[in-house]
Amino acid sequence: MFSLASILRPHILSLTPYSSARDEYTGTEGVFLDANENALGSTTSAGRYNRYPDPHQTAIKTQLAPIKGVTKEQIFLGNGSDEPIDLLIRATCRPGQDNIVILPPTYGMYEVSGNLNDVEVRKVPLTAEYQLNLPAVLSAIDTYTKVVWICSPNNPTGNLIDPADIRQVLAAAQSALVVVDEAYIDFAGPDYASWTTQLAQYPNLVVLQTFSKAWGLAALRLGMCFASVDIIRVLNLIKPPYNISAPTQALALDALDHVAEKKQMVADTLAERSRLAEGLRRLPTVQQVFPSDANFLLVRFDDANDIFNQLIDSQVIVRNRSAVTRCEGCLRISVGTPAENDRLLAVLESIAVGA
Ligand SMILES: *Cc1c(COP(=O)(O)O)cnc(C)c1O
Repeated sequence: MFSLASILRPHILSLTPYSSARDEYTGTEGVFLDANENALGSTTSAGRYNRYPDPHQTAIKTQLAPIKGVTKEQIFLGNGSDEPIDLLIRATCRPGQDNIVILPPTYGMYEVSGNLNDVEVRKVPLTAEYQLNLPAVLSAIDTYTKVVWICSPNNPTGNLIDPADIRQVLAAAQSALVVVDEAYIDFAGPDYASWTTQLAQYPNLVVLQTFSKAWGLAALRLGMCFASVDIIRVLNLIKPPYNISAPTQALALDALDHVAEKKQMVADTLAERSRLAEGLRRLPTVQQVFPSDANFLLVRFDDANDIFNQLIDSQVIVRNRSAVTRCEGCLRISVGTPAENDRLLAVLESIAVGA
């Protein structure tokens, strides 16, 4: 049986959080002399930013909850996904004692955050098909394992992780959180339901999503974390009080009124992803274009380093993953605009003919 209290670091349970001025008085009318703000205004012509933002981001959560099929109390918003990644480790892992399990090749921040917190990072590589090596994952998990990180669709490989395998990990890891990072979920097939639909079933499940990809708001730095009310309460307890700025909150709220535009951009990106994949497959320098459920393609070339450098010479910048285990010879290419993708293909074609 999973028990959150037993996997938290002991001092977290007795922590007294920072109590902000805006926590002690929550009305909106009145003369606010409680937070040492500048009552006169702001030194920018862009608007008034002199008041601290809502520490609980209630307006966003109220609008986001029905879109995601969860309650407000099941949502944590972070300064990018980076913030919940760090907070989940800090809440559960005793430095020098506990461990996390990651499944490379995968997103780099899990390991960086583990290292930063002086927490052992156990690596169980994905199979050659970029799926879980289930027996190895299960045997890597011990009583000191506090977080298992599963990225689906995975970065940099682009594929979904088999839900049946994730279920096995969720069932087996009764003294750990299992985080499913769904940063690219909007680009996955319509048959794939978000793991947010499974939160009631698995008290150890945490789902990460972000405004940085499908919503096109990477500059705002806004990550979403969905989990049980109890897990979310802990994250809110330990977060910096004003972690989401007022402009970010206002712009995110506006974005949530534009769900149709997001859908259209996702559809356009998927159409471009197919066109780009076809164009790449026609090139003689390309060995393999991996199937993708994300907004990028992992592509294996005959000589990835040479292609990467020649692309840079033409001011086309992609991500060189050729030194990453299981991604040997591969570049990761984000889907661009039609014109950007045409340019990429044109440069690759000229490289192929040695022009
Ligand atoms: C891009 C990405 C994120 C998003 O990170 P933010 O800090 O929210 O911008 C999260 N996880 C993965 C796997 C990603 O590739």
